Amino acid sequence: MSVVLVTGGNRGIGLAVANRFKASGHTVVISMRTGIAPAGLHGVVMDVTDTESVNAAICEIEEKFGGVDILVANAGITKDGLVMRMSDEDFESVLDTNLMGAFRTARACTRGMLKKKAGRMIFIGSVVGSLGSAGQVNYAATKSGLIGMARSLARELGSRGITANVVAPGFVDTEMTAVLDQERKDAIISSVPLQRFCTTDEIAGVVEFIASDAASYITGAVIPVDGGLGMGH
Ligand code: NDP
Repeated sequence: MSVVLVTGGNRGIGLAVANRFKASGHTVVISMRTGIAPAGLHGVVMDVTDTESVNAAICEIEEKFGGVDILVANAGITKDGLVMRMSDEDFESVLDTNLMGAFRTARACTRGMLKKKAGRMIFIGSVVGSLGSAGQVNYAATKSGLIGMARSLARELGSRGITANVVAPGFVDTEMTAVLDQERKDAIISSVPLQRFCTTDEIAGVVEFIASDAASYITGAVIPVDGGLGMGH
């Protein structure tokens, strides 16, 4: 059984992923900024925008559990707005969390994975990283960036038995999408071939597959879980 770290695993997609791995018998550590871990999961305090916090959390996991085998870089935020009104801060904070945060976490996990000559890095991207999204110049840029980062990691670390992939959800029912008004939700649903939002469990199942032995020859891939919304991209 493996040691799994899910960043932002205290709620939403991250929590569903964490519970899925837990149900399969893995040791699951979730990162939180504050609070206590949900029942059955180990918690570590980590703010992905803070290098020292990330490094300290990974050291803590190494000491307690023997290092991360499977990293699910899931923590992410949105700060939507039209480009003309988007401030540097709105762009930079999303970049700092979604892309730099994933980078900081992957970098901190690399040494342990190199030692073990094995590891799985799974980045939670988004369909909008390929499709683009009006009002999400910042967010979409970070999700495209994850693809370049994962593919570079796949090339850099592949010879050491480490894979790096992106799971790219469409619209998922979580607090992140709860802020959308009904008119926008209806417009999205009508453009999705499967005509509904995704559940968090549907993302978790694909993440678990990518971490499994069955996916040992998959690296540098972008796996869509988007109800067909991003077909052809
Ligand atoms: P939620 O808003 O429900 O959860 C976001 C998680 O990220 C929370 O656990 C949050 O922690 C954590 N987080 C945010 N900032 C930081 C930080 N600086 N350091 C550590 N943790 C942080 O979002 P979802 O579950 O919907 O999204 C999870 C991932 O999936 C994101 O990367 C998102 O971009 C992606 N995604 C979501 C889609 C959707 O439709 N919901 C679609 C496509 C991709 P805290 O509780 O402390 O705020």
